[in-house]
Amino acid sequence: MMRLVLLGPPGAGKGTACMSIIENYGLIHMSSGDILRAERAANSELGQKAQGYMDSGQLVPDDVIIGMMIGAIQKAEGGYVLDGFPRTVLQGEELDKALDAIGGKIDAVLDLQVPDEVIEARMTGRRSCPACGGVYHIINLKPKVEGQCDKGCGELTQRADDVPEVVANRLKIYHEQTAAVVGYYKSVDKKIIEINANQAVDDVKASVIAELDKLS
Ligand code: ADP
Ligand code: AMP
Repeated sequence: MMRLVLLGPPGAGKGTACMSIIENYGLIHMSSGDILRAERAANSELGQKAQGYMDSGQLVPDDVIIGMMIGAIQKAEGGYVLDGFPRTVLQGEELDKALDAIGGKIDAVLDLQVPDEVIEARMTGRRSCPACGGVYHIINLKPKVEGQCDKGCGELTQRADDVPEVVANRLKIYHEQTAAVVGYYKSVDKKIIEINANQAVDDVKASVIAELDKLS
């Protein structure tokens, strides 16, 4: 049973890489962003609390996120890959404490590395299916029919936080608050697997699988 953490800036391709990881290793995909978007769609109290932060590209406060993600992790049966969490050092510490308490640990941390100039184009070109969560790109990963989900769900949309002004803010916040999570994992001697994510989707996938095969 593997428990993985996927780090990297927003738009690095974490969700896309997770699709290959879950297919190959039978893990559950736990994306904090997806969980928050589902809470918003359900108009829950948590979703309402999160929306202002998300739409402006700020991080949702630690206490809200930590409770939400640790609750989900405690319910998980089997292995999983965390995507978008932890995003602050405090989140990383609290995750480790919660895992300690149930006798678990993170087996490996993958860090998807992409230069900022590439990230911007990935986020602004991203199109998402609000129905099935499918993720496309207007240039790199085109749907078969422009603007339509390949699974027949209907129209693709652009996330409100994928517009240029918000993208710039998210990238700034990544450098200010999230990049340090790699240092946290190093400080507790966690294995960090660096992935060159500035390659085509299939090449990133192959790099990730090659590294994970060495662990299992
Ligand atoms: P994250 O989960 O890290 O925010 P996504 O997986 O949603 O990132 O990817 C961001 C955008 O970049 C999407 O539009 C996706 O289709 C595209 N993308 C993902 N991986 C690659 C890649 N290796 N090369 C080019 N585009 C990619
Ligand atoms: P993502 O889908 O990972 O790009 O996340 C979308 C937005 O959700 C982020 O810009 C944050 O506002 C919020 N979010 C997701 N995960 C976290 C987290 N671990 N900590 C704080 N905010 C988060």
